[in-house]
Parts: sequence; C-alpha cells; structure tokens
Amino acid sequence: MHPNDVAKLIGNINSHQEMDQKLLDEFVKSVATRNIDIESVKHWLKAVHSNGISVSDTTQLTKGMMESGAIIEWDDNSLVVDKHSTGGVGDKMSLILAPALAACGLKVPMLAGRGLGHTGGTIDKLESIPGFNCSLTPHQMQQQVEQIGCCIAAQNDAIAPADGLLYAVRDVTNTIDSIPLITASIISKKAAEGLGCLVLDVKCGNAAFMQTIDQARALANSMVGAAKGLGINTVAQITEMDYPIGRYIGNSLEVIGSIEVLQGQGSHDTRDLVILQGSTLLLQSRIVSNQKSAEQMILKVLNDGSALEKFEQMCIAQGVDDDVAEQLIINPLKVLNKSDNIAQITALKSGYIFSIDSMKLAEVARRHGAGRFVLEDEIIIDVGFEIIVKRGQYIEKGQTWLKFHHNNLLIDSEITDLAESITVYDEQFIVKERLIDTIT
Ligand code: URA
Repeated sequence: MHPNDVAKLIGNINSHQEMDQKLLDEFVKSVATRNIDIESVKHWLKAVHSNGISVSDTTQLTKGMMESGAIIEWDDNSLVVDKHSTGGVGDKMSLILAPALAACGLKVPMLAGRGLGHTGGTIDKLESIPGFNCSLTPHQMQQQVEQIGCCIAAQNDAIAPADGLLYAVRDVTNTIDSIPLITASIISKKAAEGLGCLVLDVKCGNAAFMQTIDQARALANSMVGAAKGLGINTVAQITEMDYPIGRYIGNSLEVIGSIEVLQGQGSHDTRDLVILQGSTLLLQSRIVSNQKSAEQMILKVLNDGSALEKFEQMCIAQGVDDDVAEQLIINPLKVLNKSDNIAQITALKSGYIFSIDSMKLAEVARRHGAGRFVLEDEIIIDVGFEIIVKRGQYIEKGQTWLKFHHNNLLIDSEITDLAESITVYDEQFIVKERLIDTIT
C-alpha cells in the first residue's frame, strides 16, 4: 500500500472522521501480506492510539483482520463456543473450561496466548505438560474438535495474520493499551474460530490491565459490540482481579490447580469462576434453558470425572503419551517438573485475610522465571506460588500462608515484599463475589 494512502487514513483518524472503508480494507490486507512499510504502520497505530476510532471502524477493522487469514467453518456453529480473558494472576480457567464444556456437548476450538506482562498465558501452562503440542493448524484444530470436542492451540500466523504484525509493532510503539486495537486483536482471532457464542472475562483491579471499572466497562462494551457486529452471541463479565485466583500461581503449578478442579476438588474460587463462565456459555448456546440447569450441568461434569476424561483425551490428541496423560490426571506431581526449593512465608500479624497483592506476587514470580520480560526469555515452568489460606480466613501471626517454589535464591527485599503483600483485618468481613458487572 502506498504511504500516501495510509496518510489519507491517518488524516481521517486525526480529524475524527470515519475511515475510508476501501482504504481501511486495503491497509489490513497490506499488513497481512507485509506489503506496507513499517513507518506507515507505526504512524497509523499512533493515530488510532491517540484519537480512538468509531465503533463502526472498530468492527470493520476487526472483520478485515479476521478475513486476513483462515476462518474455521462449521456446518452449524450454534454449539461452537469459546471464552477469552483479558489476563489475570492465577487465571487457569481455560485449562478447565475447554474440557468441561466439551464434556457438556459443546465444541471449543480455543486459540490462546502466551504470558503477557505480569499475567500468565494458557499456552505456557499447557507446555509444562511433557509432550503437549500447542502448534495446531486451523484444519487440525477443527478435526480435533470434531473428534473430542475441544482443543487449545497457540495463536499463529494462519489465523488473523494482520494481527501478528500489528501486535508486534504495537509492542514497540507503546500503543498496546488502545481499546479499539485490543478489541480488533482479540475479537478477530476469536471470530476466525467460527464461533456461535463467546464469553469475555474482562479483568478489573490492580493486577489487571484495566485497573478501573470505567476502563473495564469501556473495553467490555467495545469487544461485545465488535463481536456482535460479526454475528457472535457475546457476553462480557467484568470480574475482580486484585486477589490471586485459586490456590496456585505459576505454569506447572496452575496445571496442578486445574487438575484438582477437574477431579471435582480444588479451590472454590477457581471452581466458582469456571461455573460462572461455563454456565453462561451453556445458556447462550441454548443447550440448557435456565441458569440453575446450566450450573448443575457444569458441576456434574466436574464431579463425575467426565471433564477430567476430556482433559486426558485433549492431552493425548495434542501429543502427550498415553501413560503420561493417565498419570497426570491421577497424580500430576509425578509427571510435572518440581522446583529445587520451597520458601515458606509467614504472617507478620494475626487477623482475617482481607487481601493478597497479586501484582507483588506476580512480579516476584516473573523475576524468578515464571514470566517473560522480552519475547525470547525462557519460562521456568516450575516457579510459582501456593497460597495455602483463603480470603476471609483467620490467620495467626507466624503461620505459613504462602509457599514460593523457586530455583534461584530469594533476596531479602523479595522476602519482605512477599511477607508484606498480605493484609489482615482485626474484624471479620463478608468476602465479595468476583463478578462486578455483566455487559450484553
Ligand atoms: N491479547 C491479544 O491477543 N491482543 C491484545 O491486544 C491484547 C491481549
């Protein structure tokens, strides 16, 4: 695409007009085929980041990005569903939700990402299982979903290739935090899965990318608008992301946490979010007619072993040896890597646990290898936390509340940071629900 044509689009954006639709389509195609100079892409991204774009331009951009690569087509997509989370600490929901929904009869062709900033990524977590292969082509994804009901694959350039370049350039131009750009990036990939229904978990709080409720609502509205504009029945749930989710944080540790929930046990916090998101998708896809039946259906597959069996089938279909998969679902500790050391962090005072600073925990874990600082960084899969207390519980001074699984030595300031990341209250209080708002 000629730089003068990109300049026309930038002119539209800067004067707050809708973009010329033909030129916008050409821009997205040129980005997908890498037939455009990077300086023009940078200027275009900066214009969108500074001025924003209209709802209809956002939908058009999302559609163009979706059409820039393969789109999975289903004979009937009414039971084809997925969920996307904007990223949290301890957010292992996809590992549980995909097999649980498949066990309920839905089809889940899930594309997922790697860790971003302080938040963990589903693909990094799954790759801590020996042999698990997340590199599936769109055709392989579809075949696996037709056979067993679910797959979880890494985002790749076969689907929405325009996003690959735009995302990389956003990263180096500080234009990641733009609502229309986030919307188009996420929804184009989800729409290319050929979905009938989608749940968006928009995290809100000090360990989320959207820290205030206004920011979270704006992103939720934008994503719901674009996804609905592409014909996907979509619900966004804004959920609190101050307190870490569940008992485990870290890649292989979150696999353990997921298996515990799939075994019908596990943390209530994690289980409640699975039930919230899963029941919404069951209702949207009309496989059940009311909320109570939807919740009962998800609980049943978690309690009777059928979701766990689906998880095992998914592992085997994605390259894990039969014996390893069998061991994994019975006793994951036998199969997954273990860290060299476990540090115990104790309470500095007695009281009822009000908060644990997710961001502080995530930052320490990231410095010890649980997350990346640059794309090339290798993840150390066994690094992470076990939180052995629950929100609202009474804790005595000196009692261990946190175990840090690590391989490198902890420095004094990290031990202090971890010890100070818990806040306790003298008085008992009511623990709030994670769901803050629902946008349809
Ligand atoms: N995840 C994506 O895939 N894209 C974004 O823009 C942000 C998060």
